[in-house]
Amino acid sequence: MTALYPWLEALHLSLADQLRQDRMPHALLFSGNPGLGKLALAQQLAGTLLCNARLPDGQACGKCPACAQLAAGSNPDFLYLTLEEDATAIKVDQVRALAGALSMCAHGQGFKVAIIAPADLMNTNAANSLLKTLEEPSDNTVLVLVSDRPSRLPATIRSRCQQVRFNTPDPKLAMEWLSGHLADAQQARICLELAAGAPLAALELAADGVVEARRERLGQLVDILEGRATALDVAQSWSKDEGLQAIRWMRDWLMDMLRIRMTGQRQEIRNIDLADALDGLARKLDKRVMFEQVDRINRVLVAGAGSLNRQLMTEDILLAWAAGQ
Ligand SMILES: [Zn+2]
Repeated sequence: MTALYPWLEALHLSLADQLRQDRMPHALLFSGNPGLGKLALAQQLAGTLLCNARLPDGQACGKCPACAQLAAGSNPDFLYLTLEEDATAIKVDQVRALAGALSMCAHGQGFKVAIIAPADLMNTNAANSLLKTLEEPSDNTVLVLVSDRPSRLPATIRSRCQQVRFNTPDPKLAMEWLSGHLADAQQARICLELAAGAPLAALELAADGVVEARRERLGQLVDILEGRATALDVAQSWSKDEGLQAIRWMRDWLMDMLRIRMTGQRQEIRNIDLADALDGLARKLDKRVMFEQVDRINRVLVAGAGSLNRQLMTEDILLAWAAGQ
């Protein structure tokens, strides 16, 4: 078995306790922000439930035939339901097939386990079909629904699941784990901050080169002010970002610049790796202008951005930046 993420150990123990006390519910809903390891824990729990020779701490043994089959992706008592290729929703046929498989006796000695992830992407028919399975669960089946956005699931489904909420781990624990994966401690700290404390999301951001991308974008803002680049050129490159990412970063930077300006210090800012550049900008710009920039960005983000408007919105913001308005 792969080692469990350290911040999930307590949750896994409490689930293993429920199992030991024969109180394992038929359905669980794992919810919480992305990047906290919900799916990993669901898989770990599946391993625990299916193992024929569980260890005293509730972990799967990793050696018995059921564990070996699970590792090879061929355990017939384990089902994993997710989006089919190119699909945007989990469909009713998939749920029906799952229900059919669950209604048959387990091949091994114990449980049948199904994971549905992301459960909130079931369409209405699929959710209705799942509801029937939840209302009439067969013995020794455990369904684990995994969702970043549980409020999108019908209340009727939520109410039939035991909810397991994943919280942001203690930052110290998260940093300890992250520094085992990222050599640069400052990079780890920044990515964890940007990922709102979710360690796996932080690692993904690091792999995507987010630290460098932010630095480059902030450099472009300086270039505009110093005449090395035009607002329109920069807008064109920024508008390709997914979800107006650079604009969101720009708002964060402006907030930090305001913090520096108000307190005269840079200790409290979020983007610590960009402190020098932000400090320089904070001294140059008018406070009122910075507030107006933040307002403008908020209006744009609230309005939402279809791909057609993205470039215009970005231009609007950067032209105002260039004009110092
Ligand atoms: Zn085993």
